Amino acid sequence: MSYNINITKIEKSKVSDLDFNNIPLGTTFTDHMFICDYDNGQWGNPRIEPLETIPTHPAAMALHYGQAIFEGMKATVDKDGNPMLFRANKNAARLNTSADRMGMPNFPEDLFVEGLKQLVDIERNWIPPQEGSALYLRPFMYADEPFIGMRAATHYKFIIIASPSNAMYSNRIKLWAEKQYIRAANGGTGEAKAAGNYAAAIRPTELAKAKGYDQVLWLDANEHRYIQEVGTMNIFFMIDGKFITPKRDGSILDGITRMSVIDVLRDKGYEVTETMITIDEIKTASRSGTLQEAFGTGTAVGIAYIQEIGLDGEVIHVSDQSPVANDVNDTLNAIKTGKVEDKFNWMTKIK
Ligand code: PMP
Repeated sequence: MSYNINITKIEKSKVSDLDFNNIPLGTTFTDHMFICDYDNGQWGNPRIEPLETIPTHPAAMALHYGQAIFEGMKATVDKDGNPMLFRANKNAARLNTSADRMGMPNFPEDLFVEGLKQLVDIERNWIPPQEGSALYLRPFMYADEPFIGMRAATHYKFIIIASPSNAMYSNRIKLWAEKQYIRAANGGTGEAKAAGNYAAAIRPTELAKAKGYDQVLWLDANEHRYIQEVGTMNIFFMIDGKFITPKRDGSILDGITRMSVIDVLRDKGYEVTETMITIDEIKTASRSGTLQEAFGTGTAVGIAYIQEIGLDGEVIHVSDQSPVANDVNDTLNAIKTGKVEDKFNWMTKIK
């Protein structure tokens, strides 16, 4: 289906005010946003407009009942300066998985990708050119119907905003294996990228940081034994030359970096198994010397190398170096900047 996206451009871009070597994280936004309204059972009026605040009715249902979901992805430039998107169709599909769980309408996946392409095309001068830097893209959907009462809303907005970011280097991180609070339970909303999941993670993360850790290692809700994710990343372990990562069971996010890392590792000849992993297994592997590496994966940092995991009264040492994870990170970055052939067919070029 072809869509007519109405475009209203600002008179003068703010991009000339930006110091590309020193971009404040998360507070700089580009000139425009893509926006679309859901009304009478369908999405309509797709448009790109100058980015500005949106008047919100105080009874807007997202504010009260939390029908709010989002995506996160990045646009980069190839070696000739052409903008590219990384696996945008996967984000489009995941948004609709989240929408299904939260009782929200699906957004047409071709319009999601088309909106992104046209927005990134207009904002191409905002894509930082340095290796590792990118234009972060934030598609999101929320219920903007003014109504007090518990039911699915009938009016929604779908919006894409964009924020340039410098490379985010991650020091080796220390994880706190959390046994009091949980992120997701069976039958809950763990597989949805729902705003409320992040709200519920804030307090436990603050407590872990106060103990001297960087991120929470989330464990299962029933037994507090099975490893789910780390902070807002998926997690991988290398034990005895092979990789394991928690299998998807409805409680973990279907990370796009996760699925890409699995492909890259297999392509490099490693065995990768998606399985249930207990914290005790990792402790045993560390003690016996077979735990070689562990790392988190996500759009924001790419790969975050894990140094140790703290739990009540003890510390599991992981590793002080991550040569394989580092190599995988380099491969992913090379694909995203067009330095190597896109053999997996992951990049969408914007001419
Ligand atoms: N888990 C959670 C809870 C996340 O928020 C994210 C970030 N979207 C991820 C994992 C990693 O997903 P992705 O690789 O698609 O960024």
